[in-house]
Amino acid sequence: MIDFHSHLDLYPDPRAVARECMTKGIYVLSVTTTPSAWNGSSNLSDPTSRIRTALGLHPQLAHERKCELELFDEHIRETRYVGEIGLDGAPEFKQHWHCQTEVFEHILRTCSKSGGKIMSIHSRRAAASVLDTLRRFPDAGIPILHWYSGNKHDLDLAISSGCWFSVGPAMFLTEKSKALIKCMPRNRVLTETDGPFVQLNGRSAMPWDAQQATVALQNIWNVSQEETEHIVHENFRRLVATHG
Ligand code: MN
Repeated sequence: MIDFHSHLDLYPDPRAVARECMTKGIYVLSVTTTPSAWNGSSNLSDPTSRIRTALGLHPQLAHERKCELELFDEHIRETRYVGEIGLDGAPEFKQHWHCQTEVFEHILRTCSKSGGKIMSIHSRRAAASVLDTLRRFPDAGIPILHWYSGNKHDLDLAISSGCWFSVGPAMFLTEKSKALIKCMPRNRVLTETDGPFVQLNGRSAMPWDAQQATVALQNIWNVSQEETEHIVHENFRRLVATHG
């Protein structure tokens, strides 16, 4: 099982959740929202586990944590994974748009300089701008659009520019999202949860709820559960092997 976008460090008891993931053998990309969370988050798991930590600076925090970009640059050599990064065009964050773009561009520049990273990217109400910016930093690495919720036109652009996608159980609740998922190339799709932010049946999504996304994908792709798991695992293996 793969949860390619989890905020492990934001659960009430991160250590217990990390332990459970290790016991269950789940591949987890543990994303962070600030560079100062890097040390604590990467210490949640041991290097022999299937948990990897991503260095991030969330677009919703860009205006408050821009000062941590220096710290971001210091930690970049310690990981192949970057996230959560991106842009957020929702009304409550649009006022900090300038700051968001500055932070996002800085991060992409840093990723380019360090040879390219595997990046988990937030693009809520900002898909076109995210893609524009990515285009200007072609050496930044492999972008994985997490919880893509833009329009079909931008999805086509994302696909043709080589983006990957991570999809979570909450995305399968709307017909619009399901239609988008149907258009994503099967060989570039991974599962995620975005827990603990995402609520499933009135509780926080846990990394093992990524299984629900696998089941939902199985229905969309119209293949067996075994085949779905195989496809997602092969994608994951290919991503990590070629760009890791
Ligand atoms: Mn997230």
